[in-house]
Amino acid sequence: MLEIRDLDLFYGDAQALAGVSFTVPDGSITAIVGANGAGKTSLIRAIAGMEKPRSGSIVFDGHDITAKESFEICDLGLGQVAEGRQVFPTMSVQDNLELGAMVPRARAKAVQSLDRVWEMFPRLLERRKQLAGTLSGGEQQMLAIGRCLMGLPKMIMFDEPSLGLSPAMVQEVFAIIRRLHEADGMTVVLVEQNVAVSLHMADHACVLENGHVVMEGRGADLLGDDGVRAAYLGL
Ligand code: ATP
Repeated sequence: MLEIRDLDLFYGDAQALAGVSFTVPDGSITAIVGANGAGKTSLIRAIAGMEKPRSGSIVFDGHDITAKESFEICDLGLGQVAEGRQVFPTMSVQDNLELGAMVPRARAKAVQSLDRVWEMFPRLLERRKQLAGTLSGGEQQMLAIGRCLMGLPKMIMFDEPSLGLSPAMVQEVFAIIRRLHEADGMTVVLVEQNVAVSLHMADHACVLENGHVVMEGRGADLLGDDGVRAAYLGL
C-alpha cells in the first residue's frame, strides 16, 4: 500500500530523516516506534506532503506521491489524523466534518459519509452545532478522526492519537482504530507513545532512531526483541 525508499528530510542543515526505507503492507496496522525526536512526526508529515524530502521516493497505492501536494495525496485516499488533533476551533463540529469531504473523490458522498460519522460517534451528533474549540480533548480527537473519514481514506496515519487523553478515552480511541481496521478493512499507520499497545495491535512495525530505520518486522517479533523491550518498554 505504501513503499518508502531512501527518504532524506532536512530542516535547514539539520537532518531529520536519513535514508528511511520501509513498507506498509496493504490491510495492515503498521506501528512506527521511536524515542522523542527520532523523526516519527517528520516521517508522517513527509508522507502526507506537508514536508518535502530532499531525496528518496514515496509510492502510495501505485502512485508516486513524493512531489505531490497534501490535497492531491488526500484525494488519492491517504488520510492523516495529526498530532494535537488540529480541529478548527471557531467552526462548528458539523462544519469541521464537512471540510473533510472537500477533496473531489469524497465530495459526492459527503451526505452518506456524514451519516456514517454520526453513527460511529453519536456524541458528535449530539454536539453538531457546538464550536469545536469547546469540545473536550477526547471529543476533539473523535472529531479529528471523523473529519479524516469524511475524505474516504483507504489508509489512515495516526500521530499520537492517545496523547493527553483520559484512560477511558484512550481505550475508546484504540477501539475505534481496531474497528476501522477489522470492520472497514482500512490500512493503518500508528505512531503511539504507548509502545506496548501499538506493538500488540500491529501486524508490522519499524523502529526509528535519529532519523534512521534500525529495525523492521512483525509487531510480535519487535515485542519480543530484547533491545526494543529495554529501550521502549522499560523491561
Ligand atoms: P516526538 O515523539 O518528540 O514528537 P518525533 O519522533 O515525532 O518526536 P520529529 O518531531 O519528527 O520527531 O523531530 C525529528 C527532529 O527534527 C528533531 O530533532 C526535531 O527537533 C527536528 N524538527 C522537527 N520539526 C522541525 C522544524 N519544523 N524545524 C526544525 N527542526 C525540526
